[in-house]
Amino acid sequence: MELNVVGKPASKKVVRSIIKIDEKKCNGCGKCVSPCAEGAIQIVNGKAKVMSDDLCDGMGFCIGVCPTGALTVETRETVPFNEEKARMQPKIIDSSIVCYKCGKSEYNAYLLPMRHNGESLWVCTRCLPALIHG
Ligand code: SF4
Repeated sequence: MELNVVGKPASKKVVRSIIKIDEKKCNGCGKCVSPCAEGAIQIVNGKAKVMSDDLCDGMGFCIGVCPTGALTVETRETVPFNEEKARMQPKIIDSSIVCYKCGKSEYNAYLLPMRHNGESLWVCTRCLPALIHG
């Protein structure tokens, strides 16, 4: 059996979706940190960084909030997503994230990221139907 550096069984590599960060486009604003429920992204030396591939599930909730287009999803060989490790990550709540229409936060509404006129916004599920249906 193949072992990693701490003597535990090494994870087999898989081909899957994972977030890719373009450092040239990243301005370090940090807006992508709290939308990542897995706690995979942190700001290091002024740039967003996926701290460990096994924390990123590739779902891309961070993509919609990035104002510079620095985030994309790529398919490549890496370690499998580690759901248990992600569950243990501290959850970061950003109180500035609120529904742009009613002002509700994630404490009292379900929020979804959206883009409009080049802006990254959040909308709650109560205000979303009015946007869809007019
Ligand atoms: S939201 Fe985009 S620009 Fe801001 S820190 Fe994250 S990757 Fe960088």
